[in-house]
Amino acid sequence: MVWIESMLTISKESWEIIVADACAAYPRECCGVLLGELDPADDDLRTATVAIPCRNAHQEGRNDRFFIHPDDQLAAQKRARAEGLEVLGFFHSHPDEHAYFSATDLANSLHWYSNVVVSVRKGELAGAACFRVNEEKTHAETEDLVHPG
Ligand SMILES: [Zn+2]
Repeated sequence: MVWIESMLTISKESWEIIVADACAAYPRECCGVLLGELDPADDDLRTATVAIPCRNAHQEGRNDRFFIHPDDQLAAQKRARAEGLEVLGFFHSHPDEHAYFSATDLANSLHWYSNVVVSVRKGELAGAACFRVNEEKTHAETEDLVHPG
């Protein structure tokens, strides 16, 4: 399979929401949905204009998992439809870990979506990266991530 160059640009407002949510959730993982637009000529050039923090429904006391609350995910999908936006993907944080794509992340991902991972150390932003998985969900590739700050 040939990997297509893909890029996710995050708006200033959305980026600030992601960072604030990741820091507030520390030492737990935060998670949320990204809405935005596709380049009309290229589905792999995406701009996230809305970031929606969601409840992490993973409640077993572990910090290294997230599960977006189904009600919140549904609300985000409805908002996307109402505002004429696409659900581009998701974001979550890695408390005291770098911004990599874990085996769990891989297993829980779908091919089409962009997955932003932010690293938070001692409650502060320490890095970010974006990933997309192949159709077989066996491998994740980094996606170019453009964000302010
Ligand atoms: Zn993760």
